[in-house]
Amino acid sequence: MSAARPGWPATPQSLLREDVLALAPYHVADATGLVKLDAMENPYPLPGDLAAEIGALAAGAAINRYPAPDARALKAAIRAALAVPANCDILLGNGSDEIIQLLALAVARPGAAIASIDPTFVMFRMIATFTGLRYVSCPLRADFTLDVEAVEAMLERERPALMFLATPNNPTGNAFARADVERIARAAPGLLVIDEAYYAFGDASFLDLAAALPNVLVMRTFSKLGMAGLRLGFLVGAAQWLGQIDKLRLPYNINVLTQLAATRLLERYADLAAQASTLRGERERLAAALRALPEVEVFDSEANFLLLRVARPAELFDGLRQRGVLIKNVSGAHRLLAGCLRATVGTPGENVRLLAALQAALAA
Ligand SMILES: *Cc1c(COP(=O)(O)O)cnc(C)c1O
Repeated sequence: MSAARPGWPATPQSLLREDVLALAPYHVADATGLVKLDAMENPYPLPGDLAAEIGALAAGAAINRYPAPDARALKAAIRAALAVPANCDILLGNGSDEIIQLLALAVARPGAAIASIDPTFVMFRMIATFTGLRYVSCPLRADFTLDVEAVEAMLERERPALMFLATPNNPTGNAFARADVERIARAAPGLLVIDEAYYAFGDASFLDLAAALPNVLVMRTFSKLGMAGLRLGFLVGAAQWLGQIDKLRLPYNINVLTQLAATRLLERYADLAAQASTLRGERERLAAALRALPEVEVFDSEANFLLLRVARPAELFDGLRQRGVLIKNVSGAHRLLAGCLRATVGTPGENVRLLAALQAALAA
């Protein structure tokens, strides 16, 4: 052992970025033993015979080898299942969260900004912070529609390299009007990334806009469609953009088991789409039942969750958890979300549990 040297050993406080030291850890609630309606997962198990088939695929997988770096079979399965425009490329991410990170890394010139609306998916802001970028956002109107003039003014003022627009939006659940999105696409000085994480639960898609406008990319994930545990998202857009962003992708980001399982699942895409369709029906049934409760406002949703507004969100959230149901309290996330809770649509049985717990908690 040598004598103490000043400043040695380094500590996190002396060594790490100040903005990293200032971060609060991303909190994921413990759902053990609870009906899990907090994270927009698909509540259904694998369709029919697929569980055994995927088990066999996993058993035969060469997990001693690195995965295929270009995941060609998986990309072909995505093209076969979904209407990816022929003039667009596909980039795969370990969840779409990773794609957000790759995009941020790619634009991170000194002073560059990432833009979005507020309230929206928290990862846009978090990843801007992680990558040392400025984050700017424009509030939605009180009814959660886009204030297009305000967004255009923000784009003009801030000149963001990248704007994210989630439609249907999380946590508000509504989809934005096509004309508004197109206006923003034409006003954006940089890239517009349309995040369609919930496309399977609504009617609109902007894949055609990615084909028509060179500055528009569309991002999707299979997490809300029954594959949250596989971690797979993808980005669609012009090769001139995706080829550059792909250079930042770590070479083996989609693991062997995910490539095999997702390729097989996408061959049975109709079954996944049928589950999404069932959940849409459940969403409307659940929304109607919730609207019949006193003191609960329910917003229209084109996603697999419902946003509610109640008088005492924290009490109701705790009351639900005590009754075995975990949802998400988003009331503190933004002023427009005052009083708001977000509940994922579950199976019919889970939704009955949610309703019963809500009724009991409201009466308590
Ligand atoms: C859930 C969600 C994602 C993240 O998806 P992963 O592929 O699981 O990383 C992205 N965007 C929005 C709006 C989401 O709600």
